[in-house]
Amino acid sequence: MITFYFAAGGLLFTAVIGFFLYIANYLTRSGYFTFILLGTFLAAFSPPVIWFLLGLFFGSAILIHALKKYLSKKEDTIGKKGATRDAKQLLANSLPLASCALLAYFNVLNLNWTLLMSTIIAATTADTWASEIGLLSKSRPYNLVNFKKVAPGLSGGVSLLGSLAAVGGSLLISATYALGTWLFTPQSFTGALLLIPLLLGVGGMLIDSLLGATLQSKYQCQVCGKITEQENHHQKPCRLISGYRFIDNDVVNLMSGYVILLLAIILQII
Ligand SMILES: [Zn+2]
Repeated sequence: MITFYFAAGGLLFTAVIGFFLYIANYLTRSGYFTFILLGTFLAAFSPPVIWFLLGLFFGSAILIHALKKYLSKKEDTIGKKGATRDAKQLLANSLPLASCALLAYFNVLNLNWTLLMSTIIAATTADTWASEIGLLSKSRPYNLVNFKKVAPGLSGGVSLLGSLAAVGGSLLISATYALGTWLFTPQSFTGALLLIPLLLGVGGMLIDSLLGATLQSKYQCQVCGKITEQENHHQKPCRLISGYRFIDNDVVNLMSGYVILLLAIILQII
C-alpha cells in the first residue's frame, strides 16, 4: 500500500517538474513521458535517500547548464544532440539505476543496493559535471587512449578541468549519501559508504571516456572536414572514421553504467 502512495507521489511530482523541463527545452515530448515513467518507478521501488540524491543530481546539472549558458555563448555542435533529452537518452542513462531499484526491492543477494544505487548516481553526476564544465576548459582535452589532443566536447576527451569537475560531482553525491547514513542510521555507517561511490564515481567517468574513445562511432564531415559524433553535417552524410556505427553516446552511457554497477558489487563483496 505504501508503495502505491509513493508511486502516486512520484507520478505527480515528475509530471509537474517534467512539464517545466519540457517547457524549458530540457526534455523532448518522448523524454517527458519517459521521465514520468522512470520517476514513478523509482519513487515506488527505491528508498527516499535515492530520491534526494537524484534531486541533487538534476538540480546541480540544471544549475551548471544554466550558469554555463550565462557565462558563454559558445554552442556545442560536436555532440550528437543538444541539451534536450529524449526517451532513448534518458533510458540509456537510467536503466542501470532502474534495474538496481528493482533488485533492491526484492533484496536480491542481500547486497547493500542503496550503496550501489548511490554509486551509479555519483558516476552519472561526475560524468555530467565533467562534460558540462570540461567544455569551459581553455586547453584542449586529451584522448584517453592515445593521448592526442581532441576537440572539446568530443566523447573520449579528458581535460584537467573536466576531471576536477568529476571529482566534485562524485564527492557531492558520495558525501551526501555517507552523511545521511551517519545521521539517520549511525550503526550501519562504514567508510566504504563514502569511498565506493566516490572512487567509482570518478572511475566511472574514466570508463565512460575510455569507451567513448574506443568503441563509440566518430564521423568526419565530407564538406568541412570536421570530426563529429553526428551522422550528418550540412544535411550531408559523414564518413565513419572510428568506432562502431551502432555504438553512440547513449550506448556508451548504458554500457558504462552496468560496468560501474558490476565493479561496485565486486568492491562491496570483497
Ligand atoms: Zn561539416
